[in-house]
Amino acid sequence: MKGVEMQQQQLELGRSGESHSDSDPLLQNQADASSTQEITVNNEDIENVSVPCCRICLETDCEPGDELISPCMCKGTQQFVHRSCLDHWRSVKEGFAFSHCTTCKAQFHLRVALSEDNSWRKMKFRLFVTRDIVFVFFAVQIVIAAMGGFAYLMDKDGTFRNSFSDGWDRILSKHPIPFYYCIGVLAFFVLLGFFGLILHCSSLNSNDPRMAGCQNCCYGWGILDCFPASMEACFALVVVFVILFAILGIAYGFLAATMAIQKIWQRHYHILIKRELTKEYIVEDLHGSYSPAKLDSEHEERLKMVKLL
Ligand SMILES: [Zn+2]
Ligand SMILES: [Zn+2]
Repeated sequence: MKGVEMQQQQLELGRSGESHSDSDPLLQNQADASSTQEITVNNEDIENVSVPCCRICLETDCEPGDELISPCMCKGTQQFVHRSCLDHWRSVKEGFAFSHCTTCKAQFHLRVALSEDNSWRKMKFRLFVTRDIVFVFFAVQIVIAAMGGFAYLMDKDGTFRNSFSDGWDRILSKHPIPFYYCIGVLAFFVLLGFFGLILHCSSLNSNDPRMAGCQNCCYGWGILDCFPASMEACFALVVVFVILFAILGIAYGFLAATMAIQKIWQRHYHILIKRELTKEYIVEDLHGSYSPAKLDSEHEERLKMVKLL
């Protein structure tokens, strides 16, 4: 929108620049420049009056029921907008944009209409939320499968797999895929626990009294310097750390999953509600003559409550 204006200005500058180079005398030059300016201004007026175009999609044509409207104090290339483009803008932008023009800050005149049947919208909302959750789930599965695959490559001859007591009907030898999948899950949670802990520690303020305990726990890693002499003790230490991180990882994983679902839900819910409200609060076409907007106090209260006014 602004780009178009700038382009137009550059075009005008270009035109006046040409006239400068064409004419030699200084006085005539200035007169020329002012006259071209007048002409371009007139041209601009004529263009805007004759071919209104949408300030969002920049298209000039409009479909039946989706006319170009002039809802605010904006003039020139910014004056017109498709109803559908404006309603989309109102539903995806911040609350202020629902009832105001974001360029001239004028409040729209809102006509209140009864809401239509919205069951299919609810269906769509559930579909979107499910789609996003399934997407996140598969992304996690891919990471786990990659780790399992890496473990398989590291253990190609199966020595690690066979080192487990394979008593129950040779279950591990018969089914290597579940085994490496479980290794992948374990590695995923251990890494999640490890990075989660690092993130948690670094997010705490260093002046926070709780940080002292955290620092102590970090210094606690010093015990790794005095490595146990025997192989068994070392192995036991590694197992303890793996279990510890895996438990931490499960906890962080649970937290992250809850947060992700909440975020997905909120995002779709917010857009859905606003999209519905754009159909209930219809922006009026003011045909270029703006007057201060007035809205029923009942509806004003309602919109203020959901931070859309
Ligand atoms: Zn448009
Ligand atoms: Zn405006």
